[in-house]
Amino acid sequence: MSFTSNYTDRINKLPPYLFVEIDRLKNQCLARGKDIIDLGIGDPDIPTASVIVEAMKFAVENPAYHRYPSTAGMISFRETAVKWFANCFGAKFDPAAEVVSLIGSKEGIGHIPMAFINPGDIALIPDPGYPVYRTGVLFAGGEPYVMPLLEKNNFLPDLSKIPEDVAQKAKLMFLNYPNNPTAAIATKQFFKTVVKFAKKYKIIVCHDAAYTEVCFDGYSAPSFLEAEGAKDVGIEFHSLSKTFCMTGWRVGFAIGNKDIIAGLAKVKSNMDSGVFQAIQEAAVIALTKGIDVADTIYKVFERRRNVFIAGLQKAGLKCRIPKATFYVWIRCPEGYKSADLSKFILEEASVVVTPGNGFGQCGEGFIRAALTVPEDRLCEAVQRIAKIL
Ligand SMILES: *Cc1c(COP(=O)(O)O)cnc(C)c1O
Repeated sequence: MSFTSNYTDRINKLPPYLFVEIDRLKNQCLARGKDIIDLGIGDPDIPTASVIVEAMKFAVENPAYHRYPSTAGMISFRETAVKWFANCFGAKFDPAAEVVSLIGSKEGIGHIPMAFINPGDIALIPDPGYPVYRTGVLFAGGEPYVMPLLEKNNFLPDLSKIPEDVAQKAKLMFLNYPNNPTAAIATKQFFKTVVKFAKKYKIIVCHDAAYTEVCFDGYSAPSFLEAEGAKDVGIEFHSLSKTFCMTGWRVGFAIGNKDIIAGLAKVKSNMDSGVFQAIQEAAVIALTKGIDVADTIYKVFERRRNVFIAGLQKAGLKCRIPKATFYVWIRCPEGYKSADLSKFILEEASVVVTPGNGFGQCGEGFIRAALTVPEDRLCEAVQRIAKIL
């Protein structure tokens, strides 16, 4: 018996998974015993700092933590998140009402449309973008409206290009800076423009801040919530995944406007039962004692970036030098589409990169490389690419 015909419209309406072909080829190459260098996945190869792991070992023995956590999160975790936030960005929040714990920020991003999108409502999403913005909106019955991120606009959306009737109908906007996949950064001025737009049309802004800490060359990325009036219109998603190399741990938080936080918490309390408290305790250690170690990890990514970019330039490939994130967004040479180039690089150089159109139509003409392998492997990867192009 097959149940595939029983799939809901919400499943059937999901966009096609564009990495199928690359995954298939990769597995084929692995089966043939090829030495694959995988720059495909945005998952740091560096282990979580031992100070955090040790905190977890200790916390896991506490029987109090073996019981259900609260959805909102332990108050100690929320207080620490608020303090960390004030240290990084200067804005203050109420830990009791303006923060909620998340089982990774993906969980919060996926759930927020359930609180604020009715069937038929419009949500503004960036293209290219993290795929969960679109699927979260679709699952809530909403209609994603794409904001193109173009190189000529420094990969920022041009809000003046959003038609009046769309802006009127929009309930939610997703943004993400420093950006995955383009590695672009936003200015405080841009965030001010966003606040003004959101106020005019009463749109909730959801800023995905997964990469605000992963910065290079002395740059520090602003929070959306630093912009004047941002708290009136939005929240920000923070994640310990990329900041502290904790992707497997599943912990993050949302912070900002209390009504928006309460809406998200209401959905969550009906869907999940919060983050394992031992993990929250380890997260407290990450957000306090883990910061110094994290800084040394960003330096590792910075060195990898330098090595990789130098190699790309030798290979004649064009890209901007990223100031943040561990991605490099590379323009395909004339005559190549994203899918063809990724396939060519995989088949001929045994290097996995991600075709840009997998992140949306506006990603066509680009490929994304993740700096999630050691320096010597990155060198090897660009050398192999240079040889075949
Ligand atoms: C990695 C990533 C996230 C999600 O991280 P979690 O592990 O769920 O906290 C969210 N947004 C972007 C853009 C990412 O790249």
